[in-house]
Amino acid sequence: MNRKSISRQYSRRKFIHDLSVNAGMAALAVNGLNLFSSCNDNTEKNKGSAMTKGNQNKLGIALVGLGNYAGGQLAPALEQTNDCYLAGIVTGTPSKIDTWKGKYNIPDKNIYNYQTFDSIRDNPDIDIVYVVLPNSMHAEYVIRAARAGKHVICEKPMAITPEDCDRMIAACKEAGKMLSIGYRLHFEPYNLEMARLGTTKAYGNIKKMNAGFGFPIGDPTQWRLNKKLAGGGPLEDVGIYCIQGFCYTTGLDPIAVTAQEGPKTDKEKFRDVEQSLTWELEFPGNIICHGKASYSEGLNYLQAEAEKGVFELTSAFNYSGQKGNTPAGPMDLPKVNQQAKQMDDFAQAVKNRRPTPVPGEMGKRDVKIIQAIYKAMETGKRVEIS
Ligand code: NAD
Repeated sequence: MNRKSISRQYSRRKFIHDLSVNAGMAALAVNGLNLFSSCNDNTEKNKGSAMTKGNQNKLGIALVGLGNYAGGQLAPALEQTNDCYLAGIVTGTPSKIDTWKGKYNIPDKNIYNYQTFDSIRDNPDIDIVYVVLPNSMHAEYVIRAARAGKHVICEKPMAITPEDCDRMIAACKEAGKMLSIGYRLHFEPYNLEMARLGTTKAYGNIKKMNAGFGFPIGDPTQWRLNKKLAGGGPLEDVGIYCIQGFCYTTGLDPIAVTAQEGPKTDKEKFRDVEQSLTWELEFPGNIICHGKASYSEGLNYLQAEAEKGVFELTSAFNYSGQKGNTPAGPMDLPKVNQQAKQMDDFAQAVKNRRPTPVPGEMGKRDVKIIQAIYKAMETGKRVEIS
C-alpha cells in the first residue's frame, strides 16, 4: 500500500475515529466506571464568571505548583486553547511570580500562595484549579479547590491511596464540581487509534499486550525518589501510562496481577523506591499484559498482539512524536498539542454539563491497580484486583 492510500485510509478512519473512541470510552463507563458521578455542575455560575473577564466564554484556569510540567507544558498549552486560558497561579516560591506575571500577563489579584489558596473561592476569574504538585499533595489541594467551589483537574497519579481518591471524589461531588485527571493521551490521536483498533476488534481479539515507559532519572534529591512525596518509584510516575494503555486498548479493567522488582544498581539513589519493575496484568478473556517501568532505562512503547496481527506504538507516551504501525501499514495521524486538547475538553465538559472521559473514578481505578502491583511485587504472589 503506498503512502497516499495509507493517508487516505487514515483520514477516512479519522472520520469515524472520534465516534468509535467515544464508544470505547462509553464502554469503559459501563465497565465499572460511573463517568457521571462527579459531574454535577452549576453552569450558570461558570457562565457568569467567564463572561466578566474579557475572555468571553473561556474558563479561567489556575495552575497550582509551578514546576517543570506546569511551566514547560501546561502554561504554553494554555496559549493554544479555545475554551480556557491561564487566569491564575498558586506558588510557594515568590521568586517565580515576576517571570510568570510577565510571561502570561497574570494580574496580582489572581496570584496565590499555599496559605492564601482557599480565598480563591472569592475570585470569579478562576473556574478550574489544576493541581500539578508532587503526588502525595494532590489529595489535599483537590479537596481544598473543591471546597473553594472550583472544578478541578488533578495530575496523575490521582493520589497515593484509593481512600484518598474517595475523599477527593466525595469533596467534588459535595461541592457540585467536576473532577478530571490529567490523562493527556486520551486526547492524542495515536493512542486514540490504539483504543479504536482494540475496542472495535479491528484485528480480532487481543491476546497479549506489552508496554514499557522509562527514563534515566537525574537529580538524586528530587521528590520522585522520595516515597513519602511520590508514593513509589517509576510505577507511580510512568508505569501508570502502561496501565492506562492496557485499559484503553482493551476497553477492559484488569482482574489480577503478578509483579517483580528489578535489580537496584544504585542502592543509595533508590533507597526509598524501586529502580524498575515488571508486571503482568490479567484481563478478562485471558488477555495478559506485560508492563515495565524504569528510572534507569529509556522505554516508550505500547503493543497489542491480536488474532489477525500486531498493532503498536513504537513511540507511545511522550508529549509529541508518536509513531505507530498496524498490519495495514504505518499510522499517519495528526500531530496535536495533547495538553491543549485535554484542557479544552474539560472546559467544554464543564460548560456543556457533560462527563469528562477521564474522571476521578478512572484515577481511582488506576491507583487501585498500582497498589495491587506493589502488593504482588512485595509478596511475590498473584494479587486479585476487585
Ligand atoms: P516538579 O518537581 O517539576 O514540580 C513540582 C512543583 O511542586 C514545584 O513547583 C515545587 O516547588 C512544588 N512543590 C510544592 N511543595 C513541594 C514539596 N514539598 N516538594 C517538592 N515540590 C513541591 O514536578 P513535575 O514534573 O512538574 O510534576 C508535578 C506533577 O505533575 C506530578 O504529580 C507528576 O506526576 C505530574 N506530571 C504529569 C505529567 C503528564 O504528562 N501528565 C508530566 C510530568 C509531571
